[in-house]
Amino acid sequence: MPAIQIIGDGCAGLSLAARARELPDHQLTLIVPEGAPRQQEHIWGFWHLPILNTAAGLSHCSWKNWQVVTNEKTVVLTSINYPYHAIYRSRWTSMCKELAIAHGVKIVSQSKVASDQKAQILDTRPQPVPHGQLMQHFIGWEVLAKSGSFNPSVATMMDFRCDQSRGIHFIYVLPFSDSEALVESTMFSCDREPDEFFEKAILDYLKLCHSKQVVSVKRTEKGAIPMGLLERSDVSVVGLGGNGGAIKPSSGYAFYFIQKQISVAILSAQTKNKLMKITSPHKNIDLWMDQMFVKVLKEWPAVTPHIFIQLADALSGDEFALFMSGEACWRLRLKVIFSMPKWIFIRSFIQSLYSNFLKFKIGA
Ligand SMILES: Cc1cc2nc3c(=O)[nH]c(=O)nc-3n(C[C@H](O)[C@H](O)[C@H](O)COP(=O)(O)OP(=O)(O)OC[C@H]3O[C@@H](n4cnc5c(N)ncnc54)[C@H](O)[C@@H]3O)c2cc1C
Repeated sequence: MPAIQIIGDGCAGLSLAARARELPDHQLTLIVPEGAPRQQEHIWGFWHLPILNTAAGLSHCSWKNWQVVTNEKTVVLTSINYPYHAIYRSRWTSMCKELAIAHGVKIVSQSKVASDQKAQILDTRPQPVPHGQLMQHFIGWEVLAKSGSFNPSVATMMDFRCDQSRGIHFIYVLPFSDSEALVESTMFSCDREPDEFFEKAILDYLKLCHSKQVVSVKRTEKGAIPMGLLERSDVSVVGLGGNGGAIKPSSGYAFYFIQKQISVAILSAQTKNKLMKITSPHKNIDLWMDQMFVKVLKEWPAVTPHIFIQLADALSGDEFALFMSGEACWRLRLKVIFSMPKWIFIRSFIQSLYSNFLKFKIGA
């Protein structure tokens, strides 16, 4: 029976292990890595596309409306077909673990794993982040405030009415009720600001923008997600999940892309040779567009609020959800391109062509 060893018990490792029933001809082993930092509780947000039915069913809350806000404008988008959902990490991983065990997956710690030369190894551990990498840094607080503080029918994807003095900065709000919400301060930057910067931004936002008094902070989360594909240090081992290129560079979203990558991988292993093939869940054209987008964010940070509000303004709720989930068709991609500030993107495009040309000349 072909053996598959999955290193890592995070989102990708457990999501694959949970689907062992679809791989009855394989023996799956999930290896809990040594030296890993303690996994913290956090929320995964995603738009409900068909392959996410199970996750949507387990989600804590969902919104048909979401907004992007700048000092000048607010755009509210609505989607009945693809609402935005929030699921707790522990809810998803516990369900996956239960399913994995029920379907015969062995879960072992790295020190106890027996060497199997023939096993296919899939590694979900993250790569080291190189210096100068643009990252999405954030701190989130799940807060309890006075009743009537939040509007639970609208999630806030980005609110730029916060301190912009240190780079691209916005507030993300998931209101679970009129008194409870996850409020996150997020920066797109290479270097991380101290925790106090994010915490002050959350408090300022709650007090100044909406006169909300925090009664208590129920839970905090903190993270840093690379906005770009990282080079893999060991190419002899196949990467999966974030380590397999699943994170969308322009947004840091990965939950949907991980599930998509796993669905394709399972199909590949059900074929005759039984080998699991891991492919990128992103189309090349989307990766190229993301690369241009991230380049623009890095070089022209001041225009970011304008870019996002223009994007939200140009699209319907369904289109926004599909674009963010990497499911855009050509017509939608063109709509996105035409909503962007032309001269900046044209300049970026020419620069990118030129640097690729130089690389080619030097390499040749
Ligand atoms: C706080 C946070 C919030 C996020 N929110 C969203 C969201 O709302 N929507 C979305 O789509 N995506 C979100 N993401 C991005 C992405 O979905 C997650 O990072 C997701 O967990 C990636 O899954 P993974 O299996 O690739 O990595 P992980 O779930 O991080 O699993 C990696 C595995 O490697 C192990 N590991 C980690 N570091 C080491 C180490 N140094 N040595 C050894 N082992 C190690 C871990 O223990 C784990 O077993 C978020 C990420 C974070 C960190």
